[in-house]
Amino acid sequence: MAQDNVREVRDRTDIIELVGSYVALKKAGRSYKGLCPFHQEKTPSFVVFPDSQNFHCFGCGKGGDALTFYMQVEHVEFREALQELARRAGIELASFPTIAPEVDAHRQRLIELNELAAVYFANVLSNSEAGAPGRTVVERRGLSPEVVQQFGLGFALERWDGLHIYLASRGVDPTVAVEAGLLSERNEGAGYYDRFRNRLMFPIRTREGRTVGFGARALGDDQPKYLNSPQSAVFDKSSLVYGLDLAQAAIRAADRVVIVEGYMDVIAAHQFGYANVVATMGTAVTETQIGLVKRLSKHIVLALDADNAGQLATLRSLETLPAALDGEAVPVAAPQRGPAAGAIIRWERKLSADVAIVRLPDGKDPDELIRRDPARWPEVVEQARPFLDFFIEGVTADLSLDDARAKSEAIKRIAPLLQQVGDRVVQAHYTGVLARRLQLPETVVQSEVRRATLRTAMAVDPRSRSASSRAPRQASQEDHLVALLLRHREICRPILGLVPEDDLIDVRNRELLRVLRDEAIPFELEPPAIIAGLDDELADHAERLLASLAGTPAQYPGHIERDAARAVERLGKERFEFLMRQLQAAIEAAQQAGDAATLQSLIDQLALLHARHRQFYPPPSPYFRDSRSTSLPTTG
Ligand SMILES: [Zn+2]
Repeated sequence: MAQDNVREVRDRTDIIELVGSYVALKKAGRSYKGLCPFHQEKTPSFVVFPDSQNFHCFGCGKGGDALTFYMQVEHVEFREALQELARRAGIELASFPTIAPEVDAHRQRLIELNELAAVYFANVLSNSEAGAPGRTVVERRGLSPEVVQQFGLGFALERWDGLHIYLASRGVDPTVAVEAGLLSERNEGAGYYDRFRNRLMFPIRTREGRTVGFGARALGDDQPKYLNSPQSAVFDKSSLVYGLDLAQAAIRAADRVVIVEGYMDVIAAHQFGYANVVATMGTAVTETQIGLVKRLSKHIVLALDADNAGQLATLRSLETLPAALDGEAVPVAAPQRGPAAGAIIRWERKLSADVAIVRLPDGKDPDELIRRDPARWPEVVEQARPFLDFFIEGVTADLSLDDARAKSEAIKRIAPLLQQVGDRVVQAHYTGVLARRLQLPETVVQSEVRRATLRTAMAVDPRSRSASSRAPRQASQEDHLVALLLRHREICRPILGLVPEDDLIDVRNRELLRVLRDEAIPFELEPPAIIAGLDDELADHAERLLASLAGTPAQYPGHIERDAARAVERLGKERFEFLMRQLQAAIEAAQQAGDAATLQSLIDQLALLHARHRQFYPPPSPYFRDSRSTSLPTTG
């Protein structure tokens, strides 16, 4: 979720260079042309437009961006094309845990090693005599055999070479095991030793259930009490959510996800039937993690222990929010363990999620709470307060209404947060709440919020401002069309077949269209369920598309279908006119140069372009006055 990988890959890929490695290209005006790699031809009708970074074949009609070109010429899927072009451009893809494993043999190897180790640890815990200390802990903590098995718990022996010997017997290269975070290299002399010793092992899995690392809890007094796998090519704890593989269905069913802080908390919750509970791993919640769970439900409850909840409300709201105000994704580097208040507001706005906070009773973690009285857990979760309520209450809790200076301080802390709330109605609501709480006129609070706006506007880094003005984030014609089709797939079913995919330049829109057309995906599925099944990059794009429709008033199905039909026409018209301009310029150039052969070929292409356009976008019937905006430019 962290960044727009597709956009970055496209920006950093030189489409001329890419296409040029397959097709001999010749410069013609502002564009380049060559023989089409997708159909047989003798005169070139395949054109690449460097300014708009796309290609079109006037002969066979194929078109698209650099990624589409690569997918079609190499016959690979979207993910593999993205992966390869990212590699060539030197871009590290942010969301690697969900990369299809077959695209990266090395990562696959690391995952397999972790899975092999998980089998070993689990076997030690349940079957070996030496695993008795682990079994004692499991029993003492009241873990049922079912959850032990579900979560794949294991035990690392109190010796230096338990796993090492096992891996050696399987012919595993120890240097790879070091990279996978399972073995460590001896400081002195040659050799390796087990990284995890005398610890209860919690395999950490991706959403798809692949084991990429471990959390390990010391049995004795060893420090640290919890030891994680080190950061590796497959393990990045800030982008993993513990228990998500097992919690997905329950989160969807409950339409709520509860995020706790520890492995044991998650396991206890699942054991007692509260399977919509997941955990972060000893770090502040990150935007990536919120993005992952938000796919399943936008109702997010953070269950914080008393310390972290207290910190959340007392820290200055913007202190831990570096330059994040331009709306770009910035990993939230919070020095405290709880998330920064400003970050939460930003997630709510950007990811359109609702974040609520529940402050756990003093000194109790969910594990203890649930085991002592399982029936009480739903009550605890019910007490979750919307984040801004929680924050305002926290800041104003001990405030004396006679203390003018303290009131002023409180407003200064809260105003920057209110300023960041995207929804004006919500902002007005909380401005009112705060005013009543402090017994001040609402206008005073409002003016503080406005002043906060001014301050942040001035604080925005001028570089990022110029960057965003260079690339306006305007929803394009095709984005709008695909957004409508995604939002109203069922209603727009008749339209889906009418969209000529070669007119969609953004590879993600093509991929989404392909999914939406897929009859195997039930038409009654809501957009979030469709999005949940998508590749991460596509899911991010799809969510942006849906967000772009937010705020449009509800409409009758007939209107929606008509709007979508119009969007198809506008898209075709736009593309047609763009290609027409290109051809006309080329024709003029050929006329001036007196190049009869080229001229004839271009005129043929013009005829083909017209024919193809008419095929998808028939001209309005003269007998039926409708409101379609398409009109074919006439050419002599
Ligand atoms: Zn072609």
